[in-house]
Amino acid sequence: MTADFENPNKGFESYLQFNPTPDGRFGKYGGAYLPDELIPAFEEITEAYNTICNSAQFINELRRIRKEFQGRPTPVYHCERLSRKIGGAQIYLKREDLNHSGAHKLNHCMGEGLLAKFMGKKKLIAETGAGQHGVALATAAAYFGMDCDIYMGEVDIKKQAPNVTRMKMLGASVIPVSHGLRTLKEAVDAAFEGYMKEYNDAIYCIGSCVGPHPFPMIVRDFQSVVGYEARDQFKEMTGLLPEAICACVGGGSNSMGLFTAFLADPVDIYGVEPMGRGEKMGDNAASITFGSEGVMHGFNSLMLKDKNGEPAPVYSCASGLDYPSVGPEHAYLHELGRVNYVSVTDDEAVEAFFLLCRYEGIIPAIESSHALAYALKFAREHKTGTILVNLSGRGDKDIDYIYENYGCGEQFKLD
Ligand SMILES: *Cc1c(COP(=O)(O)O)cnc(C)c1O
Repeated sequence: MTADFENPNKGFESYLQFNPTPDGRFGKYGGAYLPDELIPAFEEITEAYNTICNSAQFINELRRIRKEFQGRPTPVYHCERLSRKIGGAQIYLKREDLNHSGAHKLNHCMGEGLLAKFMGKKKLIAETGAGQHGVALATAAAYFGMDCDIYMGEVDIKKQAPNVTRMKMLGASVIPVSHGLRTLKEAVDAAFEGYMKEYNDAIYCIGSCVGPHPFPMIVRDFQSVVGYEARDQFKEMTGLLPEAICACVGGGSNSMGLFTAFLADPVDIYGVEPMGRGEKMGDNAASITFGSEGVMHGFNSLMLKDKNGEPAPVYSCASGLDYPSVGPEHAYLHELGRVNYVSVTDDEAVEAFFLLCRYEGIIPAIESSHALAYALKFAREHKTGTILVNLSGRGDKDIDYIYENYGCGEQFKLD
């Protein structure tokens, strides 16, 4: 193994100590661009989190929840058969699809719920687009015995009926948002308005490493369990660190969850953005690849813009990845050159989806299939070595869409 003095990433040992800065900056990115009325509410959350994250009682309670309720640690799995078929680097998966409720999102929702409980709050508030964050937060609210208001655009409510039913069964109120385009952007605005009215009793819970400070930090910290577990598990299995790791990047929570533990290691890191149907504006959601600096939803980051400098229309077959900005820490890690940001198209993700089904017996989320598709490219290009993929979620939610468009995937075979 590489001796430590040869580790090109040695400077990153103190990275977490200094990032973000106390005012929530990752270099020039991040910050908190808030209406005046909400500044005290966000300061209260920051202060509570900074106190609680060092308390033994909080840490022990979160550990217990992760073990007994979520079923952590999730395993690391060696895709022996798929790796043999590809004939290059060995592919390993961190199985967040086996986390309770089927994806990594519950990792930060349970953390946010516990934070709310320690702050004496009685209600969790959030918006949701495809409904995945709403379902995870409704799960946390049911566990902690709290009320839960999920704001959702009317268009999304129609499209995502099963997730709406799930949220309601879990006891959440789904509040339809009927202005503008009636999708995620309007839902974010409505959730903020709802929160403004009752922040004494409620807490706003964001769904990724985005939004105003302290959320990019809080969500990263709660998700980092993924990487710390995986690093130990991988070393125990192989005696080494992986040569490379990768994860898909929407807002950036499952990827920061995996990356954080490896920043100071001699490990190559790849963040995988959705290239959708291609490079034209409106055909992808590759915010780092094509974006420029801009403020949206209360934080400064890299953003896809239209001609007028407004957030551009975005598209990906993976609804969890189609966001026109990205977590500020990713913009910073890109600027520092510590993480390589690459992209895969819808078609490449779909191929990876079917190969994992057929050769490993695992149906992955179409978001996670983007990360796997990059790992397949890596394995085809590297004859030896290892790559660890964050399999952020399971694919049950995607099978109808994929079946309608690609059938059962008989055409995707390796000889
Ligand atoms: C929401 C979601 C994502 C994308 O969100 P990030 O914050 O970028 O991780 C990825 N995978 C799955 C399964 C999701 O549900």
